[in-house]
Amino acid sequence: MHRLAVELCGNASSPHAAGRLAARYVERAREQVAAAIDALPEEIVFTSGATESNNLAILGVAAAVRNDGRPRRRLLTLGIEHPSVLEPMAELGRRGFEVEFVPVHRDGRVVLEALEAALDDALLLSIQAANNEIGTLQPLREASRLAAERGVLVHTDASQILGKAPFSVEALNVDFASLSAHKCYGPKGVGALWIRGGVSGAPIAPIMFGGGHEGGLRPGTCNAPAIGAFGVAARVAMERLETDASRIGALRDRFESELSERLGEQVRINGAVGHRLPHASSVTFYRYGGQPLDADALVVNLPEFDISIASACHAGTPEPSHVLREVGMSTAEAYGTLRVGLGRGVERAEVDRATERFVGAPLLRRSARGCPDPKAGGEPVELRRGDHQHPETETQALNETPQ
Ligand code: PLP
Repeated sequence: MHRLAVELCGNASSPHAAGRLAARYVERAREQVAAAIDALPEEIVFTSGATESNNLAILGVAAAVRNDGRPRRRLLTLGIEHPSVLEPMAELGRRGFEVEFVPVHRDGRVVLEALEAALDDALLLSIQAANNEIGTLQPLREASRLAAERGVLVHTDASQILGKAPFSVEALNVDFASLSAHKCYGPKGVGALWIRGGVSGAPIAPIMFGGGHEGGLRPGTCNAPAIGAFGVAARVAMERLETDASRIGALRDRFESELSERLGEQVRINGAVGHRLPHASSVTFYRYGGQPLDADALVVNLPEFDISIASACHAGTPEPSHVLREVGMSTAEAYGTLRVGLGRGVERAEVDRATERFVGAPLLRRSARGCPDPKAGGEPVELRRGDHQHPETETQALNETPQ
């Protein structure tokens, strides 16, 4: 991306040489992103990220209804969706659509019987492929089969799954899928909406108006360097998918089983074990005696690790995570929950060091204390972060100019 940002000065829509060079990178990225999800390049619309893709899919389908006068005005989604799904849904509620939340089990999986009962006459089901906080994978194939039988369109927010677990739009038979580059080690501020069959003829209308870029659905000059980098990230993610998933999944399982073994009832692992993203671990911590502890205070005590208490989008808000509340946790349990994500570069020694730091955290040992004792945790551990250098293949790919 660094090289492309310097060299791709042309506008990909311009016919001159610099523009044509930028366009070649954009089109190659379109092929790479499409290949990563088993789609056709002409079905990919580049956007500024999954937030925009989710808004475009949901508001765009609703806008198309208004245009062609179809009577269906019911929208279905899950309460554990990302705010970039929930907020456009809420907006459509204010515009006269009926929004219904399909319940989920405690592990975050949709209640299929409830979904089946809710589908009749619905216009659109927006159901995430994987949850960003608890990692739960939804039974998408089954959900889209039920929806297709009733003529309901299916959109999936697939931003968390790309590069982490297999995802094929063909096999899943969905209609729209949102993607985000930075979830698979690409740059922030770029993503895509996949549309079955491409823009023309699809039941979706633009929500922004301007030039005719991206099939007339998403106006605005293409961010060619970011898109080019997204393509490479998607390709590398696919090449590494199997090895990354099994290596990281094994480290995550090791982390969780060590915590469970050594802290017993003081930890609870959340999400659907067996149906989870391999790098995701959501853990609720309890004091002796059973009360959930303040996970924020636990993280403060572990400054050498970058660990989230909830979704980054919620960071700084005093509200407990809506995802954790939605899967049945009390407010106190939600505040006692940590979201641990294992990155591609993480090594076993780092995971073991993190485990030791958790197990030894004063908050977990001294139930009487309200806040961590900085001396009790021992000397801060010097963490050697994972090697985040781009592997050879990534830099090589960027050095090849597409023809
Ligand atoms: N959907 C999910 C499930 C996410 O985790 C995120 C994360 O940020 C988004 C959507 C928004 O993606 P972006 O940051 O590309 O707008």
